[in-house]
Amino acid sequence: MTKRRLFWAQTSAGREHARRNAQHWQIRRRSAPRCKATAKSTGERCGHPAMNDREVCCWHGGLTPRGDHWLRPRWPKADTPRAEAKLNRKLQDLAKAARKREKRVAAMSPAELERYKAWRAAHQPGSKSKRTAAQEQRRNAIATAEFLSRPAAPVATSPEIAELNRLLDEAKRRAAALELEIAKFDQGIFG
Ligand SMILES: [Zn+2]
Repeated sequence: MTKRRLFWAQTSAGREHARRNAQHWQIRRRSAPRCKATAKSTGERCGHPAMNDREVCCWHGGLTPRGDHWLRPRWPKADTPRAEAKLNRKLQDLAKAARKREKRVAAMSPAELERYKAWRAAHQPGSKSKRTAAQEQRRNAIATAEFLSRPAAPVATSPEIAELNRLLDEAKRRAAALELEIAKFDQGIFG
């Protein structure tokens, strides 16, 4: 034990300080936010301390990169001890995950494969703003497709209103079709 540690352990003031310090951390730990995930092992709420700024603990996605780092591997910092070993381990893990994924994809039914491909297309890494824009575009494309598949507007009471409604509907369809074209074009660029 170092001299400093001995001092803390052998004087009453030191012991008191250590006791208060431990108490402080216990209180902080108890009042800290808890993981909201459901533990597979028990089927109940996990309850471990949540990671900083997160609602989940390190076992339930608290370490998963988000924002601009979302879906991107996290590399060890070059100046950390054993950086090279860590990097090799990371590369091995990534290769292992890729092999596992390949196996899973190979065993998929055509319908599953189609769903998987759609998921992959919708889950590409990139900056948060770019991803949000792409998400918005996909949502618009779905809404547009839904609108285009809807039956024509119901018959109105007077022929004039009916004609106006017809024109309005036509204009909306044209705008929707245009938006769909734009979304497809953008997807061609970014996809
Ligand atoms: Zn948890």
